[in-house]
Amino acid sequence: MSGSRLDPWVDSYASRAHAMRASEIRALFAVASRPEVVSLAGGMPFVQALPIDMLLETAQRVLRERGAQALQYGSGQGDVTLREQILQVIGEVGVTAHPDDIIVTTGSQMALDLVTRVFCDPGDVVLVESPSYVGALGVFRAYECDVVHVAMDDEGLVPSALDEAIVAVRAAGKRAKLIYTIPNFHNPAGITQGQARRAELLAIAQREGIAILEDDPYGLLGFEGEPPRAIRANDPDGVIYLGSFSKTIASGLRVGWAVAPHGVREKLVLANEAAVLCPSNYAQLTISEYLATQPWREQIKTFQEVYRERRDALLESLQALMPEGTTWTIPAGGFYSWLTLPHGLDATAMLPRAVASLVAYVPGTGFYVDGQGRQNLRLSYCYPEPDRIREGVRRLAGVIESELELAETFGTTHSRGAFTGSSVPAPDLR
Ligand code: PMP
Repeated sequence: MSGSRLDPWVDSYASRAHAMRASEIRALFAVASRPEVVSLAGGMPFVQALPIDMLLETAQRVLRERGAQALQYGSGQGDVTLREQILQVIGEVGVTAHPDDIIVTTGSQMALDLVTRVFCDPGDVVLVESPSYVGALGVFRAYECDVVHVAMDDEGLVPSALDEAIVAVRAAGKRAKLIYTIPNFHNPAGITQGQARRAELLAIAQREGIAILEDDPYGLLGFEGEPPRAIRANDPDGVIYLGSFSKTIASGLRVGWAVAPHGVREKLVLANEAAVLCPSNYAQLTISEYLATQPWREQIKTFQEVYRERRDALLESLQALMPEGTTWTIPAGGFYSWLTLPHGLDATAMLPRAVASLVAYVPGTGFYVDGQGRQNLRLSYCYPEPDRIREGVRRLAGVIESELELAETFGTTHSRGAFTGSSVPAPDLR
């Protein structure tokens, strides 16, 4: 056996394992999770807004009344009653389907994995937004896909940029297999695709014969009006739609789903069986019982109110405190705003100094595969109380002010203070 002293197995790994890389900011996140730090980094849902006693009661009832089923293996496609109930949930964004079109997964993260497993050989191209969800980028990388970022504007993916990317992929002799998009309350960009834009993107995907992978964990968490209509609502054959109970009920239960065209769904079920045999019956039945007996739409309204108040706290304090030249997106739902630093500042280099000032964020580079995003950072407002958010923004504004002063004295801050480390728990980049 050769390899290195730290890991004697390294020469035995598959090439895909070499493509799995720890974030350079991992070590810092161990520090960032200390209670005195205001973390605007993690995307943890505020599960404390749930009536925990009622969930306890629900989980107990499942065990009491259907324990033999809940504790047993189940179907690789997921519980049929839950799949029927999921139809009501996706109906809110205009998606109609048959229970057979749905596969229940271990969070929508697992659905991302299964879809990539079914569609992508090493070297196949996945077209993604600029920036894109870090957890999806990790999946695409693990399957050795070539990820190509496509520009966004404040309406989402830019159609002409998508056209150009497809032409360039083809010219390079490669094949684009998926267009991965988060149309609602984007993670991390905080942007929502307009309906006309969705139609344009769908038309391109249809013309080019590329499947759209529509990832929609936040669609019901809008702050104004009706939930936006899903892309899948306009093309059941060309779009694989992913949803999740992580943000509307509880992320700890790990229940999500994919709605897919018939043939794709069959492959996804086989892939799910190969990966996990079946999703957890206990978790599925608990969700199913909750949906059947509790006012889940009311609970979603409660979540919307909690997150709207926090979004407002964030935006008001950014407006009041941020130095000139700093800009940010205004999310109409979801958990995130995407901030652009004044010219010359570097969010990755700034992070150790931000944490020293007791505020944390995720630097923009984590949301790209190609080193873009140095001037950006993601702010999450989902978890801290509004007063903590205001305090966090106050600290962050102070850090940016002093970076600006340093930059004025010494030029750009790019080269200072990079932080590396890998032997600490995974960062909370959700
Ligand atoms: N997609 C996006 C865009 C997300 O933000 C997340 C979680 N942060 C997921 C998928 C995965 O969520 P889960 O597996 O909990 O359903």
